[in-house]
Amino acid sequence: MRFSRGRNFLFRVPEGRELLGFINDFAKKNNIIIGAVSAIGSLRDPKIGYFDEAAGEYKVIELSGLYELVSLSGNISLKDGEPFAHIHVALGGPDGRLYGGHLVEGEVFVVEVFIQELLGEPLERKPQENGLTLWDAEE
Ligand code: ZN
Repeated sequence: MRFSRGRNFLFRVPEGRELLGFINDFAKKNNIIIGAVSAIGSLRDPKIGYFDEAAGEYKVIELSGLYELVSLSGNISLKDGEPFAHIHVALGGPDGRLYGGHLVEGEVFVVEVFIQELLGEPLERKPQENGLTLWDAEE
């Protein structure tokens, strides 16, 4: 799929907010249908997912304490007709080691987000037999 560049958004999320929900709400409020997301900062008690192919679902890994949000990378597209953010994170612990996965939940301490809106045909997620909701693949 080919898109052209839309608006750019750069903002800080208030302390105490749940990050994934905040990004989804921000996309809805600003009518961002398709976009690329990146961020840095730090999260409290983040939960990350690892997709267990045999089980067909995410295994949730619960981390406790404050983690550096070393890198956040993701996208926004449509799911059930609403903007939906799919986000992966690399999280640094106090010993500098990284944990990573699919962001399930994270309370914001400080997070700075960049969203690049993309304009074009709507990109829609559809449920698959493997338990994931995916875009149609490029031919
Ligand atoms: Zn994912």
